[in-house]
Amino acid sequence: MTKQKKYLLPENEIPTQWYNIMADMPNKPLPPIHPQTHKPLTWQDLAHIFPEECSKQELDMEHEWIDIPEEVLDKYRFYRSTPLVRAYELEKALGTPAHIYFKNESVNPLGSHKINSALPQCYYAKQEGTTNVTTETGAGQWGMALSYAAKIFGLECAVYQVKITMQQKPYRSSVMRTFGAAVTGSPSMSTRAGKDIITKDPLHPGSLGTAISEAVELATTTPHCKYVLGSVLNHVGLHQTIIGLEAEKQMQMAGEYPDTVIACFGGGSNFGGIAFPFMRHNISGERHTEFIAAEPNSCPKLTRGKFQYDFGDEAGYTPLLPMFTLGHQFKPSNIHAGGLRYHGAGMIVSQLIKDKMMHGVDIPQLESFESGMLFARTEGIIPAPESCHAIAATIREAKKCKETGEQKVILFCLSGHGLIDMPSYEQFISGDLQNYTVSDEEIERNVSELEPIIKE
Ligand SMILES: *Cc1c(COP(=O)(O)O)cnc(C)c1O
Repeated sequence: MTKQKKYLLPENEIPTQWYNIMADMPNKPLPPIHPQTHKPLTWQDLAHIFPEECSKQELDMEHEWIDIPEEVLDKYRFYRSTPLVRAYELEKALGTPAHIYFKNESVNPLGSHKINSALPQCYYAKQEGTTNVTTETGAGQWGMALSYAAKIFGLECAVYQVKITMQQKPYRSSVMRTFGAAVTGSPSMSTRAGKDIITKDPLHPGSLGTAISEAVELATTTPHCKYVLGSVLNHVGLHQTIIGLEAEKQMQMAGEYPDTVIACFGGGSNFGGIAFPFMRHNISGERHTEFIAAEPNSCPKLTRGKFQYDFGDEAGYTPLLPMFTLGHQFKPSNIHAGGLRYHGAGMIVSQLIKDKMMHGVDIPQLESFESGMLFARTEGIIPAPESCHAIAATIREAKKCKETGEQKVILFCLSGHGLIDMPSYEQFISGDLQNYTVSDEEIERNVSELEPIIKE
C-alpha cells in the first residue's frame, strides 16, 4: 500500500464557523482595562480604533461558534483548504517512532497564516464604512497579508514596518507596495509618537511597540481609518481557528488524533489557531493532548515573563492587557524570527498557561535554524524563521519518543515559508548567526516598572 503523504479537504468541507474558546474556558481571561481609570473596556470603547465586529468578537465569552461571512469564505477558497502533511522523511531522518504531521499554512499568495485574519478584518471594516486601514508589521508578513486583503476588499492601507526588519527583509515592503499599500519605516518622523522616540534615541532600530504606537496614532487622527492587528488579540486567534478546525477533519482522514500540538509563538495567533479547536476536547475531558508553544529564548515571555497588566505597545497608547509580559519597554535582540519579538502573550493564552492547559518552551536561535535546515532537506520546504521554532520543539519531542519508544502523534503548524527570509539562512549557513540570551536582571528591570495592578 502506498503511504498517503498529504490530506486535503474538498472546498465544500472547509469549516464555515470559527471556534471561540473563550465560551468554553473554565476561567475566563481578565478583561482589558483603561490605563487611567482601570475600568474594564466595553466593545464600544474598543470600536474607537478597531472595526466594530472585531471589537465585539474580542470580548465575546458567550458564542462558542461564530459564522464566517460568505464573502470571507469566498476569499478563503482562493487558497484553502491547506494541506495536512505527514513528515515521513523528517521522521526517518530522526529515527523516531513518532508520527509527525504538519499543517502547511505557507501555501497562499503571501506565504504565512496571517491572511486568515487579514481577510475577515478588512471585510468587516469595509462593511462598516471604513475607507482606510492602518497597522504595524514586524517581519512584514502581517503587512503583506493586510495589503492583499485591503486591496481585495477595496480599502486603502498604510503600514508602519519595524525599521530593522525593513532592512533584514527588503522584499516584504515591495510585496506590500505591489498590493498598493503605503509603507513607512518605524520609528518615523510622520507621527508624534515616532518623533518622540527618535528624539530620545536617534538610532532606535524600531520594534513592534514603536510601529503599533504610530499606527494607532494615525488611526485615531484620521477619519474613517481603523487600526487592525495581526496577532495578540482574541479576535485574531478566533479567525485563525480555521487552521485547527481543518486540521481536525484532516487528522480524521488520516485516522489519527494528536497527542501533542505545537506552534511557534509571537503573539499567539498561529498557536491559538491550530491549538484551540483541539483544546476544546481537553476542556470537555475527552482528550488529553499536550499543547506546546515555542518561543525564542531571547524573548521568553511565556516561560520567564510576569503575569501583569501591560500595554500592548511601547508608547502606551493601547489599553492595558492582562498577560505574561517582559514589560512593554523590553527590547528583544535582533533575531531573524522577527515575528516572535513581541513582548507579551495574548490574554487567552496567558490564562491558559496559568491554568496549566498548555506550556511554553524556549528555543535558541541556532537550534531553530538547524531544525529548519533539517526540515528543508527532508521535507523540501524552507520554513519561515518563526516556524523553525515550532519545528525545533517538534524535533525535541520526536527525539524523546525515540528514547522512550513511544509512538506519539505530533502535529505542528508550519506558519509560513522562508523564501523571503533567505538572507537569514545565508547568514546561518555562513556561520554568522549567534544565540542570544536575556538575563534575569534585564527581565526584572523591565517588569518592575509595570504598575502592580494584579496583586499576587
Ligand atoms: C507573524 C508570524 C508568526 C508569529 O505570530 P503569531 O501571532 O504568534 O502566530 C509566526 N510565524 C509566521 C510565519 C508569522 O508570519
